[in-house]
Amino acid sequence: MTDIKSMTLDELKADIEAMGEKSFRAKQLYEWMHKKLSRSFDEMTNISASLREKCKERYEYTALRAIEIQESAIDGTKKYLFELSDGNVVESVWMKYKHGNSVCISSQVGCRMGCAFCASTLDGLERGLTPSEMLDQIYSITLLTGERVSNVVVMGTGEPLDNYENLLRFLKLLTCEEGLHISQRNVTVSTCGIVPGMRELAERQLQITLALSLHATTDEKRRKLMPIANKYSIAELMDACGYYFEKTGRRITFEYSLVGGVNDTKEDAEELIRLVKPLNCHVNLIPVNPIKERDFVQSEREAILAFKNKLEKNGINVTIRREMGRDIDGACGQLRRRHNKQRQQ
Ligand code: SAH
Repeated sequence: MTDIKSMTLDELKADIEAMGEKSFRAKQLYEWMHKKLSRSFDEMTNISASLREKCKERYEYTALRAIEIQESAIDGTKKYLFELSDGNVVESVWMKYKHGNSVCISSQVGCRMGCAFCASTLDGLERGLTPSEMLDQIYSITLLTGERVSNVVVMGTGEPLDNYENLLRFLKLLTCEEGLHISQRNVTVSTCGIVPGMRELAERQLQITLALSLHATTDEKRRKLMPIANKYSIAELMDACGYYFEKTGRRITFEYSLVGGVNDTKEDAEELIRLVKPLNCHVNLIPVNPIKERDFVQSEREAILAFKNKLEKNGINVTIRREMGRDIDGACGQLRRRHNKQRQQ
C-alpha cells in the first residue's frame, strides 16, 4: 500500500487520475491531510463514501498515537512518546517560547552515529522514519495542544542526513503552500556532520537553518565524543559549512555541548573562536544533559559563563541553550529508552 501522507500534491494528482477520479479530489484529500490534519479518511466529509473506501484499500494512512505525554512543571515543555504502525516508538518535544511554539522531532527510530553522551544511540539504529511519520509528530502535537506550531527543529532522535531522501521530502511537504506552510526559515536541521549530505543540502539552496553538532575543537577530542569524526575532519566540516552559507546565505548554527573537564576550558574556547570566526554563524552552548549510562558531567556554571563571555568578547554570536524539560527525561532518547526497557520487563 502507498503511504498517502508522504506523497506530494503532484504525485497524488497523478495517482487519483489514474484511479479514474477528477484531479481536484487530490487537492481536497491533500488539504484534509496536511491543512485540516485529519486522522483518517472517515473525517473527509466532502469526499464521497465510495472514494473514501477506495482510498482505504489503496493507501496506508499514517496517524501516530501518543502513548505517553510528560509535562514539565518548570517550563511547560511537553514530551510525547508516539507509537508507529509497526510498534516502534519515537519521541518528540513541544516547547513554548516568546517567539512561538517549537516542536523538536525525531528523524529515525534509534541512531547509528554512536555519540558518547547521547541516549538515542545506545541501542543502535532500527530504521529511518518516513516523511509522513516525521510530519505526523508535528500534526499530532498541533491537534493535542490546540496551538499552532511556528518552528520545527529536526533535533530529536536520529541523524537526519542518514535518512536524506525522506528528510528532503518531509521538508517539501512541511513548507508547501497547500499544507501547514511553515516557513523554511523557521526550520532547523541538526547534523553530527555528514559532509556529503551537508554539501548536497547546500546545493538544494533551501532557506532552512543548518545546525552542526561540533562539540570539540580538535579532531582528536572530537573522535572521543563522536565516531563520525573518524570519517570527516573538522577542516572538512568547516569547508562544508562555508559552502552551505555561500549557496544559501543562511548563517550556520554550531552546537557545542559543554562537558565538565572534557571540552570546557579556556583553551577550548580559544580554539573554537579560531574555528568559527571566519564564518557567519551562531554558537549554541548546551550544558550536557547527563545520562545514567555514561559518566559525563555538566560543566560548572562559572565555566559555562566564562566560555560564553570569551566567545562574546571575540564578536561571536552565542547563546546558552535554556535547559527545557530537565525534569521530564529531557535529553535526546531518554523517554523512548525508558519505555522500551519497561516493555521488555
Ligand atoms: N543527529 C543530529 C541531531 C540529533 S541530536 C545531531 O547530531 O546533530 C541534537 C543535539 O543534541 C546534538 O547537538 C547532540 O549532539 C545533542 N545531544 C545529544 N545528547 C545530548 C546530551 N545528553 N546532552 C547535551 N546534548 C546532547
